[in-house]
Amino acid sequence: MMNISYINKATENLKSFIPENEIFRLLEETKNPDPNRVREIIQKSLDKNRLDPIEMATLLNVEDKELLEEVFEGARELKRRIYGNRIVLFAPLYIGNECINNCLYCGFRVTNKTIERRSLNLEEVVEEVKALENKGHKRLIVVFGEHPMYDAKFMTETIKTIYNTKDGKGEIRRVNVNAAPQTVEDYKLFKEVGIGTFQIFQETYHTETYKKYHKSGPKSNYLWRLYGLDRAFEAGLDDVGIGALFGLYDWKFEAMGLLYHTIHLEERFNVGPHTISFPRIEPALDTPLAERPPYALSDEDFKKLVAILRLTVPYTGLILTAREPVEIRNEVLKFGVSQIDGGSSIGVGSYHESDDEKIKRSQFLLGDNRTLDQIIEELSEEGYLPSFCTGCYRLGRTGEHFMEFAIPGFVKRFCTPNAILTFLEYLEDYAPEKTREIGLKRIEDELKNIPDDNKFKKDLLEKMEKVRKGERDLYF
Ligand code: SAM
Ligand code: SF4
Repeated sequence: MMNISYINKATENLKSFIPENEIFRLLEETKNPDPNRVREIIQKSLDKNRLDPIEMATLLNVEDKELLEEVFEGARELKRRIYGNRIVLFAPLYIGNECINNCLYCGFRVTNKTIERRSLNLEEVVEEVKALENKGHKRLIVVFGEHPMYDAKFMTETIKTIYNTKDGKGEIRRVNVNAAPQTVEDYKLFKEVGIGTFQIFQETYHTETYKKYHKSGPKSNYLWRLYGLDRAFEAGLDDVGIGALFGLYDWKFEAMGLLYHTIHLEERFNVGPHTISFPRIEPALDTPLAERPPYALSDEDFKKLVAILRLTVPYTGLILTAREPVEIRNEVLKFGVSQIDGGSSIGVGSYHESDDEKIKRSQFLLGDNRTLDQIIEELSEEGYLPSFCTGCYRLGRTGEHFMEFAIPGFVKRFCTPNAILTFLEYLEDYAPEKTREIGLKRIEDELKNIPDDNKFKKDLLEKMEKVRKGERDLYF
């Protein structure tokens, strides 16, 4: 972790690539859009093109109910055509809530004296990971506050420990990271231990607002964070996730910020972000700003945001977290969300120690407290295909969402079979009887969609048989 004077010096000559005035202008100029223009834009996205800023602004300005329904339907159609019905499941693992920053919306901020501070040592990490493995998880995102205790060495040792922790048939096959922006040298350590995605949320792309809510600590430097993922690319990490925290500033501006960030990465590194996250601010212990976010995003606008993000950047994964209540989650899943967390607990240490005090160590409160099993059961009943797939990552095929999008037949050839195999593992190893029944029926229905003369079906059926006999970690 770098001190603030190093950070200020390192960003001295950088310029923001978020053109704030242009964003305001585009949002103004595209008001009351012509319905035919809106339809053309939706079609452009369905034809597998990333939208331009003026096109996103046009969609953001759709207010008419019927036209908005066409936007929603466009997002649903895109999901159906490209991604199908798989939903990838993961769990967040909070390693420590010490933090030297002062983000006014976050329960971990340095000035919060009510929160109980805790960091897991490696033995405790092992216990947490075993607890997660025993629920059936295969993919984690590890989350850290920003603190000298959590330097790159500590974080990467933690990740190594996670990969090495196996319990029965359980193992973690992919670790994603959500942590403070690193230096190029430090990102290299993350590359060495084999992380999946490195996520950094800009929180707000609006500089004035950013300054207002990040008054001290390394995070107070907007540009260090804005260029945080550029440094990841420079270190050879090409799997990155961007995000904005909704509720700090005008949501349409933030949505445009996400697009300009995407374009910047495409232009500079030829690859856009692997995932986009769009958390809304949730209440947090002793955190007045989070109780009353200055630009709270309504449920209606949240749905609109997700549909428009889907259409604007059709090749990324969209991540939705348990911050959102069940009803909203169910609705926006249809717009093309590709990953959700299940059975999440965000109090440090709370997977292996259940106590009533965990809230005192949590960053914020969750809106969806269903267990992983409940979520899987419900997803299956709704016709989704729960997946724990890590096939691409294991085979060095980075940027799987992009490949799903760009390579014809990729989903059918790799993603659906891998989803089926990992779902079957879950049903064999962890599911209670009722979920098992529902899940096996779901897999059967899914197999019916693959014609018998499909040359890969035989392979899949053979691998499924091996899973039933106890082999694990088979993938295409
Ligand atoms: N400390 C690192 C950082 O800030 O980048 C990484 C971990 S931080 C705990 C992860 C994310 O949580 C932040 O980027 C922010 O978007 C989100 N967050 C913070 N406070 C929140 C709140 N009250 N409700 C929902 N999300 C919140
Ligand atoms: Fe610390 Fe991250 Fe919370 Fe900010 S959002 S206070 S940096 S943990």
